[in-house]
Amino acid sequence: MPDDNVIRAENLSVQYKTRAGWVSAVDDVSLEIRRGEILGLVGESGCGKSTLGKALMRLIRHPARITNGHIWFQGIDLMTLSDNEMRQFRGRNIGMIFQDPMTSLNPIQRVVEHLIETIRTHEPAVSDEDAHARAADLVDRLGISANRLDDYPHQLSGGMRQRVMISLALALNADLIIADEATTSLDVIVEAQFVELLQQLCRDLDLAILMITHNIGLVAEVADRVAVMYAGRMAEMGSACDVFKEPLHPYTQGLLKAVPNIHLEEDELYKMEGSPPDLVSPPPACRFHPRCPHMMPVCSKVQPDFETARGDHRTACWLYQDVPAEYQDVREGSKA
Ligand code: SF4
Repeated sequence: MPDDNVIRAENLSVQYKTRAGWVSAVDDVSLEIRRGEILGLVGESGCGKSTLGKALMRLIRHPARITNGHIWFQGIDLMTLSDNEMRQFRGRNIGMIFQDPMTSLNPIQRVVEHLIETIRTHEPAVSDEDAHARAADLVDRLGISANRLDDYPHQLSGGMRQRVMISLALALNADLIIADEATTSLDVIVEAQFVELLQQLCRDLDLAILMITHNIGLVAEVADRVAVMYAGRMAEMGSACDVFKEPLHPYTQGLLKAVPNIHLEEDELYKMEGSPPDLVSPPPACRFHPRCPHMMPVCSKVQPDFETARGDHRTACWLYQDVPAEYQDVREGSKA
C-alpha cells in the first residue's frame, strides 16, 4: 500500500437483513483516502454512502453485516481485528462527526468531561490534570474559549457543538476523520466556517478526511478528490478538478446538471428522470440503466467494472470500456 494512503477499502460489501431477505447496501466498493486530503463522497439518499462510512470504521451492527472485502489502515487489515481490538483501534485512529452532535454528545456531561473521558479511556496513564490541559488546548485550537469547557452541550451553538465533535476526534490524534452529513444542521455561515476549519486541520495535521454529503456544491468547494455512489456501488472517482470539469458517468453528469448555476440562462433546473432503485430488487447489471440517457443493450445485461478511464479518473460505465463481443453490433446503433 502506498505510504500516502491512510485507509484503503478493497471490494467491500455490506448487506442488511429485511423481511424479503439479505439486501446489498454496499456492493463491491473500493476506495482509498490519502494523507492530507479531503475525499468527498456524494450520492442521493439511500445510495449507501453512510453505510460505507460506518463500514470503514467497522461500525456495522446486526441486522447488517460486512460480507466481503478488506479495509487496510496503514498496513493493518481491520477485518482481521477482534471487536475489542477494533474498539481500541477505532478510538485511537478514526474520528467520526455525525449530522447532529446533540445525539452523539451526552446531554448531562460537560464538554470537559467528554474530552477527559475520551482521553483517559484510551490512555489510562494520563492524569486528570494533564487530560484537562489537553482538553483546554484542543478546544482552543478549534476556536472555542477554554472557559466554555464547563458548558453542557445544550449551552453551545450548533457550530460549537460540531467543533467539540472535532476536538473529540482529535483528542487521540486520529489520522482519519469521517464527517457524515456533518454540516446539514448548520446554517450557511457556520457551515462555511466549519468547512474552512476542516480544510485547515487537514493541511496542518496531515489528516485524511472523508466528507459524506448529498451536497455536491459543498464538495466542489472543499474536496481534493470526489467519489460518487449510486445504488450501493461506486459510479465514479477522481480528482475534484477532473470530476467537476469532465464528469464521465452519466449519473455524475446528471447530478452536476441539477446544481443551480447562476451563470446559465435556463429558467428551469435540470431534473434527472426517475429515482434511485429499491435495493431489495435493484435493476440488473448497471443499476443506473433505467435512468440513463445513454443506455445500451449491454448495460442491462453485464455489470461494467469500476476501472480507470483516464489517469486517476475511474468510472463504472460501458461508455468507456470494451463492450463484450456479443453486444458490439448493437452498440453501434445505440443512443450513445
Ligand atoms: Fe448508462 Fe450504460 Fe454507462 Fe450504465 S453502463 S451509466 S446504463 S451508459
